[in-house]
Amino acid sequence: MNILPIKTIEYEHPQAGLSCTAQAWARTPAAPSAAEKTALKERIKRLLKEREAVLVAHYYVDGDLQDLAEETGGCVSDSLEMARFGRDHPAKTLVVAGVRFMGETAKILSPEKRILMPDLDATCSLDLGCPADEFSAFCDAHPDRTVVVYANTSAAVKARADWMVTSSIGLDIVAHLHAQGKKILWAPDKHLGSYIQKQTGADMLLWQGSCLVHDEFKGVELDLLKAEHPEARVLVHPESPANVVALADVVGSTTQLINAAQTMDATTFIVATDNGILHKMRAAAPGKHFIEAPTAGNSATCKSCAHCPWMAMNGLQNLADVLESGSNEIHVDPQVGKEAVRAIDRMLDFAAAKKAKALPTSALANEATLFSGVGPA
Ligand code: SF4
Repeated sequence: MNILPIKTIEYEHPQAGLSCTAQAWARTPAAPSAAEKTALKERIKRLLKEREAVLVAHYYVDGDLQDLAEETGGCVSDSLEMARFGRDHPAKTLVVAGVRFMGETAKILSPEKRILMPDLDATCSLDLGCPADEFSAFCDAHPDRTVVVYANTSAAVKARADWMVTSSIGLDIVAHLHAQGKKILWAPDKHLGSYIQKQTGADMLLWQGSCLVHDEFKGVELDLLKAEHPEARVLVHPESPANVVALADVVGSTTQLINAAQTMDATTFIVATDNGILHKMRAAAPGKHFIEAPTAGNSATCKSCAHCPWMAMNGLQNLADVLESGSNEIHVDPQVGKEAVRAIDRMLDFAAAKKAKALPTSALANEATLFSGVGPA
């Protein structure tokens, strides 16, 4: 495997000045009182109807937003299902409770729809750490490689890619490309890329980005926690460092981890992903006990404490406000959108083919008829 030198990532604000997680936390909406919460929920339900809008929320946002999405006919899910649901839903307005790349993906897939977000400055360290101009130069330097990017990237980066993947399908798609003899250029998450490389044996050149939430989980401290709870099963998202992944009973996307919590024959789980997921896990597996994996310890810098500051910028108040005013609309340059949609459509088509064929990863990877025209950018 080829590894690029580690580079420091500045969390640069998309519009103005320099942003950091402290600034994101400072923008987090204040928690409403019980009475305010009830009134806001009623207002949002009414506005969703009046505006013919549907709410699409990620598992990492506030639990009230997740519940509202489900109660009003929207969806709460991982980024693969958010993309598919938003594309296929007939509503003319989608309200995306998540971070900016999710809103952009929705716009790319449905350019005719209006996409609103509670806060347009809700971003992602992976997106920020992979600027389109630097990434394009990197691709130019490796024209023999098939470019596979994670969903957590800008529209311009997706436009430069052959494939977009999410954590729920990245392994299958890379296995498929590897079986076709392709060499991969992967961006931006180094931990997920490294995990997929180890699982598939593919030749992967890795961009060195990371998620600031998952990067904070600590292997040594997790080992100590496991010793305290020997009965617990460990669920890990593959954006986590390798020494954390090595301690997992299950490694998977948010949806795969929720399914594991629901179906595994255990009552206690240690969970290494954003703690926003615990809301859905508790609902899906009532009576089971969930413990957050440690971010503290001797080596901790704890910039996020297992919760994404940008996901936390989504709240009931700013959701109600954008529905009322129609502000915070996501725009994507139409030409960039046209180029980016190819990579996203390939993933969605692949996911649909996988579902239809119900094939295991190894069989799907060897399906020569699937996507045989895909090559280096
Ligand atoms: S949790 Fe990590 S990957 Fe997800 S949006 Fe936040 S910074 Fe990005």
